[in-house]
Amino acid sequence: MESIAHKRPIIFPKRSRHAERSSCLRCGTCCAKGGAAFHTQDKELIRSGTIELKNLYTLREGEPVHDNVKGILMPAPCDIIKTKRRQNAPACIFFDPEPAGCRIYENRPLECRLLRCWDTRALEARYASDRLTRRDLLSEIGDLWSLVADHQRRCDYRAIWRFLDASPGPPIRRLPPEIHEMIRYDACLRQLMIQKGGMDAALMDFLLGRPLGETLGRFGFGPDTGEIAATPLPSGETAVTGSARLGFGALTARKKSTRS
Ligand code: SF4
Repeated sequence: MESIAHKRPIIFPKRSRHAERSSCLRCGTCCAKGGAAFHTQDKELIRSGTIELKNLYTLREGEPVHDNVKGILMPAPCDIIKTKRRQNAPACIFFDPEPAGCRIYENRPLECRLLRCWDTRALEARYASDRLTRRDLLSEIGDLWSLVADHQRRCDYRAIWRFLDASPGPPIRRLPPEIHEMIRYDACLRQLMIQKGGMDAALMDFLLGRPLGETLGRFGFGPDTGEIAATPLPSGETAVTGSARLGFGALTARKKSTRS
């Protein structure tokens, strides 16, 4: 039975009042902007089933992600496992807007416990360290982990960065066959795991990350055309380069204002 304690509202203060606060107002602003990423300290929450895998998704290594501390899009340095979003909203799937509350408040992940919007230093200090990965959760499940690891190898985002690095210049560029093959393989494997393997479709975004055909938009690829359309930066966004330190070569990243 669901504990009533889980319904305790978590409300955060309005941004303009952050500097004046020293405690949480439980306004829900943080949860409405997006969910938390998981760290190794959260492993037991997932292993015990307190937080179910079907409520999570994986940003795979190399996938363009919004770094909330640096405020830019950049390739994920490793798996980043996050809570899914509510339908048609950026809010965390565990966030109830009316009245504002976290459905797993007593068992919320580390980032949620560290986040104080009036002083984000504790979260910033832990933000990029000890990320929980799919290997941490699946490596003991031999066949499944082999499948997931093989998918990661065959659908490696670094291949897309390499293609972009090697293709500066014209605004429209055709996707190379190896990336078409990655998209096809990614889609077929999902279908196979659900239809032949009997797996819950809701698990796919955790096991295999989001469908490659959908995430290519963050690279500026059109959805079905097999082409890259030049996508000018919206006003207010700043193009930056410099993923070299992550080993992925140059990339264009954009400053954004919301949680990824
Ligand atoms: S798990 Fe709870 S506290 Fe954390 S972002 Fe989601 S709703 Fe908010």
